[in-house]
Amino acid sequence: MQDKTIFQKIIDREIPATIVYEDDRFLAFLDINPVTKGHTLLIPKDLYVWIQDMPNDLLGDIMIKAKELVIAIKKATACHLVEIVIEGNDVPHFHIHLIPVHTGHKIASWQHTSYENSEAQTFAKKIKSCL
Ligand code: AMP
Repeated sequence: MQDKTIFQKIIDREIPATIVYEDDRFLAFLDINPVTKGHTLLIPKDLYVWIQDMPNDLLGDIMIKAKELVIAIKKATACHLVEIVIEGNDVPHFHIHLIPVHTGHKIASWQHTSYENSEAQTFAKKIKSCL
């Protein structure tokens, strides 16, 4: 059997993550190396690597879930907009980056930040409360 992706290990609770949303098909959690605070990854629980591997109904539904999360993240972080990025250079498990963009922040550079102490939990809690 193929090795689990890091995201499958998060789904199976083999490694920790700060979870923002979960249902039977999708999981959303904070990126461990955020571009901005509140940077969230949304994944399908079933393993698909590329967008072209995703069944159309699941792809449609994950985009609707992304929309719901965008609304919650925007409210929770009081950002100007939430950038939606599908990149997939590192982890071979389809994922959508949802990145809060504050006015004046140039997202094209993808500088990274980090959370201090329980800050990630606070961000996750705020996003959850806006869902
Ligand atoms: P990419 O595959 O290029 O779209 O990027 C994968 C993303 O997954 C990066 O932004 C990483 O910071 C993030 N990432 C990798 N491992 C973890 C983890 N254990 N928990 C949360 N995010 C992760």
